[in-house]
Amino acid sequence: MEFKKNKMERQIVIGHLFPELLNLYGDLGNITTLVKRCQWRGIEVTVKNYTIGHTIPFNELDIILLGGGSDREQRLVCDYLRTMKNEIKDYVENNGVFLAICGGYQLLGSYYKTKNTEIPGLEILDLYTEQDDERLIGNVLIQSTFGKCDYKVVGFENHSGRTYHDYEHFGNVVFGHGNNDEDHKEGLLYKNVLGTYLHGPLLPKNPEVADALIEKALDRKYGESYLEPLENRFEKKARAIMIARLEKGEL
Ligand code: GLN
Repeated sequence: MEFKKNKMERQIVIGHLFPELLNLYGDLGNITTLVKRCQWRGIEVTVKNYTIGHTIPFNELDIILLGGGSDREQRLVCDYLRTMKNEIKDYVENNGVFLAICGGYQLLGSYYKTKNTEIPGLEILDLYTEQDDERLIGNVLIQSTFGKCDYKVVGFENHSGRTYHDYEHFGNVVFGHGNNDEDHKEGLLYKNVLGTYLHGPLLPKNPEVADALIEKALDRKYGESYLEPLENRFEKKARAIMIARLEKGEL
């Protein structure tokens, strides 16, 4: 199929899970970025918001976003999401595109152990998270080869959980803390799941990451993932400013 020539209609459906509960540090901007970058290329895009009490039709979704939240919100969401563990697992195993950020990333694992309690995870991925006293806060720079990227990804992190796993990582930490402040690794890649601690939001300043997610969704749905190139002038400028600040030691 050649989408450029015959302008065949393509549609992407984004499922935004718990937008009113899990939406820290600009996570909503990830949705705007995905929507705009699809629309600029003539790809029809629909965003569907789901919250507690809603039935989530996973087989109708092309990209899922699960953002970050406080421990309290994480607990609320986790109890509800655990009722549909198998459907989420099937979505992931069937190559559904899934962007999980911070609290959302932690939720995909076995548990998030805090000083007072343990929040059970969805047990979809073999990872676990344990809280430590010091919060890991600040701007982050990672070196990543995700999708077509061979470049630096910037973001912002604020978490007390330390996450451990043996999957491929989203990137190597250049500045900041990443998964656990020990191994200099950030995030996780499994099939079409991208788990990361990077808020900021992640996608506006890292458009290659946004495009990689859109490409994966198109490839899964249509077996073809052609995306017209976009200029990314402002996006690159915004990222360059952050990189320059970090390189000067302004964390
Ligand atoms: N509550 C989690 C933690 O502090 C996640 C926070 C977040 O999503 N920013 O580790």
